[in-house]
Amino acid sequence: MAALTGRTRLLGIIGDPIEHSLSPLIQNAAIAELGLDYCYVPFPVQGADLATALAGLAAVGVQGFNVTIPHKQAVMPLLSEVSDLAQSVGSVNTVWRIAEGWAGTNTDVLGFLAPLQALRSDWSGCRVVLLGCGGAARAVVAGCLQLGCRAIATVVRDSHKGSAFQKSWGDRAAALSIHDWSEIPDLLASADLVVNTTPLGMDPHIERSPLDDQAAQQLRSDTIAYDLIYTPSPTRFLQQAIAQGCQAIDGLEMLVQQGAAGLKIWTGAESVPVDTMRSVLKAHLGLA
Ligand code: NAP
Repeated sequence: MAALTGRTRLLGIIGDPIEHSLSPLIQNAAIAELGLDYCYVPFPVQGADLATALAGLAAVGVQGFNVTIPHKQAVMPLLSEVSDLAQSVGSVNTVWRIAEGWAGTNTDVLGFLAPLQALRSDWSGCRVVLLGCGGAARAVVAGCLQLGCRAIATVVRDSHKGSAFQKSWGDRAAALSIHDWSEIPDLLASADLVVNTTPLGMDPHIERSPLDDQAAQQLRSDTIAYDLIYTPSPTRFLQQAIAQGCQAIDGLEMLVQQGAAGLKIWTGAESVPVDTMRSVLKAHLGLA
C-alpha cells in the first residue's frame, strides 16, 4: 500500500462482524495498482449505531463505502438516493457521497452477471433453476430479469418465504415460479442454468451440496452450474455438475466484479485492475 498522506481519501466497508471481509484486501490491491491516494478501511458498525455511523463517515469525509451483513437493508432509509436496481433487489451494498448526503446501489447484480455475459450475449431462451430465496437470490433474480431469461424456477424449503419472495417481485417477474425441493429432478432435467444461493457446501461444511447425488445426475451436460459460494472452489455442487459434463462457475468472479464496480463509482476510474483483484483474492484463499 502507498504511504498515507494528508490528502489520502477514505473508502471502507461497514458490517458486523467485519473481520472476515475480503473487500479491504481486493480494494487496496486495486487502489495501489491504480496509484490512487485512497485507503479502504473496515469499519465495525453495530445495528444500533448505523445512523450515527453514517453521519460520522460523512463528517470525516469518507468518500464511499460498501455495506455488508446485517446492514444491507437497514441502510436504505438512511440514504438520500437509492438506485432503481437496489430498490428492486431490496438491498444496498455500495454507497457514495452526493451533495445531499449518501446515494446507494447494489453492485451484486452486475457481479453476478459478469461471468455469464462473458460466455454469451443472448440469454433470452434460458430456463433458470434458482436454489434458495434469501438475499443473494434477489440479486440473481434481478440479474436474470436483466438478461431476459425465459423462466426462473425458484426452489425453497419454506413455502411462506417462497410466496413472499414471489409476491415481492410483482408484475416484474412473470417468469418466476416457486417450487419445493421434491421437484428438483424434473426441474434440473430442463434447466439451462442452475444457480446455488444456499450456503450448502460453504467452508467449513464442504461435504454438503444442495443436490443429492441422484438428483445431480439429472443435470444435463449443456447446463451451466453457478455456485455463489467461493470457498471452497469447486464446491461439492460444482464437482457434481462437472462430473455430469456441465460448465461450472464459482462465486469468486461475482465478488471481484461487485467490488470493481464500486471502485469505479467511488474513484471515477474508467477501468480498474480486475486481474489484480482476482489474483490477490485467489492467493489469499489458497486457490490455484
Ligand atoms: P441468506 O439470505 O441466508 O439466504 C440463504 C438461502 O438459502 C435461504 O433461502 C435459505 O432458506 C436457504 N437455505 C439455507 N440453508 C438451507 C438448507 N439446508 N436447505 C435448503 N435451503 C437452505 O444468505 P445470502 O446472503 O443470500 O447468501 C447465500 C450464499 O451466497 C452464501 O453462501 C454467500 O456466501 C453467497 N454469496 C456470495 C456472494 C458473492 O459475491 N460470490 C455474494 C452474496 C452471497 P431459509 O430462508 O428457509 O433459511
